[in-house]
Amino acid sequence: MDGSYEPVEAISQALDRLYDEQGLDIPIHVDAASGGLVAPFIQPDVVWDFQVPRVKSINVSGHKYGLVYPGVGWVVWRKHSDLPEELIFSVNYLGGQMPTFALNFSRPGSQIVAQYYNFVRLGKVGYRRIQQACQDIAQYLAAEVAKLGPFKLLSNGSDLPVFAFTLKEPTNFTVFDFSERLRDRGWIVPAYTYPKNLEDMAVMRIVVKDGFSRDMADLLLNDMRRHLNYYAAHPESTHTSGSPGFSHGVSQEEKK
Ligand SMILES: *Cc1c(COP(=O)(O)O)cnc(C)c1O
Repeated sequence: MDGSYEPVEAISQALDRLYDEQGLDIPIHVDAASGGLVAPFIQPDVVWDFQVPRVKSINVSGHKYGLVYPGVGWVVWRKHSDLPEELIFSVNYLGGQMPTFALNFSRPGSQIVAQYYNFVRLGKVGYRRIQQACQDIAQYLAAEVAKLGPFKLLSNGSDLPVFAFTLKEPTNFTVFDFSERLRDRGWIVPAYTYPKNLEDMAVMRIVVKDGFSRDMADLLLNDMRRHLNYYAAHPESTHTSGSPGFSHGVSQEEKK
């Protein structure tokens, strides 16, 4: 929700205590969609993967910080027996028995080649440099967003190169309005509410990926300042855009 890692090791330790007290042996699947190709390079000391015995499977999206075009994702099991047999179909195909674990059958192999190419071409050093550059820019941007005035950071890019922020106090615009205004120069900064038990928290989130340069960060900050100046100069103005716009979250209009 805000680019922070979930504390996999601490969760595992809590599950160890549950096992000791109640005998419930609960395995862990780690949804490492983004973090799985960030943490190993720039936070190698974070313990979250198969080093934790309870972790039985991990997924990671190649098309996020794996640096491959959509859509490729990976899932890895600790050992063969952790993938339930009943999920694997054995099909008699083209003259042999072939095990398949997929939602559809014929798929292009191009994304797998692209992932392989990037791993070989960039190596660990290359991935580390790219992810570190993303993080440097995310942390710079977060610090500058905090300085704009009305916003409060909920995270600062120190886990994933991702951060979320909210309005310090109610004003003449919402994060949904602001998100929509940013689209006037093509910025897609989604606004959304947090999940259950924090539903009244409405935030915007910025994800910094390879290609989002420091120059672009400054352009975005300039546009944010331009819109804040507009709202400051029009204290009576409420949001007037007629376009439905795009957001990952539910806009105030839609809620009504
Ligand atoms: C993006 C994301 C997913 C979905 O992954 P896809 O590879 O895009 O299908 C799942 N979980 C988290 C935490 C994500 O960020």
